Amino acid sequence: MLSRKAMQITPSPTLSIDAKAKQLKSEGKDVIGFGAGEPDFDTPAHIKKAAIDAINRGFTKYTPASGIPELKEAVCARLSIDNHLNYQPQQIVVSNGAKHSLNNVFSALLNRGDEVIIPAPYWVSYPELVKLNEGVPVIIETKKEHNYKVRAEQLEKALTPRTKALILNSPSNPTGQIYTREELEEIASVAIKNNLFVISDEVYEKLIYGQSKHIPIASLGEEIKKLTIIINGVSKTYAMTGWRIGFTASEPGIAKAMADIQSHNASNPNSIAQKAAYAALTGPQDCVEEMRRTFEERRNYMVASISAMPYLTCIEPQGAFYLFVNMKETFPRRFRGIPVKNSDQLAELLLEHYRVALVPGRGFGAPEYARFSYATSMDNIRAGLERLESFLKELH
Ligand SMILES: *Cc1c(COP(=O)(O)O)cnc(C)c1O
Repeated sequence: MLSRKAMQITPSPTLSIDAKAKQLKSEGKDVIGFGAGEPDFDTPAHIKKAAIDAINRGFTKYTPASGIPELKEAVCARLSIDNHLNYQPQQIVVSNGAKHSLNNVFSALLNRGDEVIIPAPYWVSYPELVKLNEGVPVIIETKKEHNYKVRAEQLEKALTPRTKALILNSPSNPTGQIYTREELEEIASVAIKNNLFVISDEVYEKLIYGQSKHIPIASLGEEIKKLTIIINGVSKTYAMTGWRIGFTASEPGIAKAMADIQSHNASNPNSIAQKAAYAALTGPQDCVEEMRRTFEERRNYMVASISAMPYLTCIEPQGAFYLFVNMKETFPRRFRGIPVKNSDQLAELLLEHYRVALVPGRGFGAPEYARFSYATSMDNIRAGLERLESFLKELH
């Protein structure tokens, strides 16, 4: 019999629609995928070269559990240059991806029954990772009129004596929204007053469009910085999802606990990938700007096209590479006689009859929505949205 823990986990819905789309593709069907949760670009050449050099030089052994010193220094340097944040190498823990960093944080902070506040729509793995670490996810529904961002007064209402931490994700996956300085200041003051940890997932900090700016909550003052654990990594910024390198910046005591945990359950992040991540963080950054600009063009096209379609509404994303679209107006309707009950069914009909893949919102805690990734070529986007429009025209 499996553990209770194992049985209460729901498999990642972003991966399951992806699996279905991949299967159709392997059967020779031409599927257009808006499901991707990763950049469609190749890892830049100078980063790959650093990894090849690492292999050729025999840098293929165990490293310190929390990462090689030069990589931790490179993380500190980027935090300082990009965000004016001052961290020392002993405050950095390099892991096997930001997802692994999140698991390290929960493992280091949570006792059984501790509550973690998660604003919805949320990234699919947050509640599951909290549960795997014996914590209790406390979901707060954000409002569309607040651009899906949690308000300080909502946090205050959700507090209990067991509240341990809050997860912030700005820019957000799936909504692409970014918290402003004023919003963060209010949230920080609730966190400070109630001694809450803020787990700040900033993996999309470099993918920001228009006039928006990324403000790390830790930059608002020493008190909030002490309570914040920054989660970041190279996956989204440098198109390095497969390399599996993430990192945290936190108080030294939390960093040491995470490093000790990691030393037992993972030993160390991959030695070769650490060298590649070092090259990414210390090398030329124009590759990031080039990818960002491409994402921005696609975003603009997607927002304009989807806004012009019947039944669908969305708020323009300020960052990341997703459009979070409200599908509610399609639900009272029928497709070839079949009632469209919810976004799961809509996603299935769309995939089956028009070979377009998108991710239904249920896994993000927002069942009336669907997530469209624009980490795919402009040609795919054009063709996919044309098919979507034809589908919508068939609804009655
Ligand atoms: C992709 C993603 C991660 C995980 O990134 P890895 O470093 O590849 O593990 C974490 N948080 C959010 C919000 C993401 O979208």
